[in-house]
Amino acid sequence: MAIIVLQELDKQMPPDFGPGAAASFIAAVHAAPADPDVPGDPDDRTFCGRPTLGMEPVPYEPAGPGASWLPPNMRQWECSDCAAALRA
Ligand SMILES: [Zn+2]
Repeated sequence: MAIIVLQELDKQMPPDFGPGAAASFIAAVHAAPADPDVPGDPDDRTFCGRPTLGMEPVPYEPAGPGASWLPPNMRQWECSDCAAALRA
């Protein structure tokens, strides 16, 4: 099964930031099944049930069976519900 890795961004702009200084912070990294009709696009919901609308795809594909579903450098943001669903 193809999965799409998505990052949920927590967009915040501190009041003392000037124009153009908007920073994006990763809130969590989720996984979603690929849309059967649109290859490369995620389905409407992640494995943990969140809407994928507004999430940013992460350009990453697991190297193979048993490989981590998310990039190793994003492990700290791993969504535990998505991880549990993928382990099942
Ligand atoms: Zn999730």
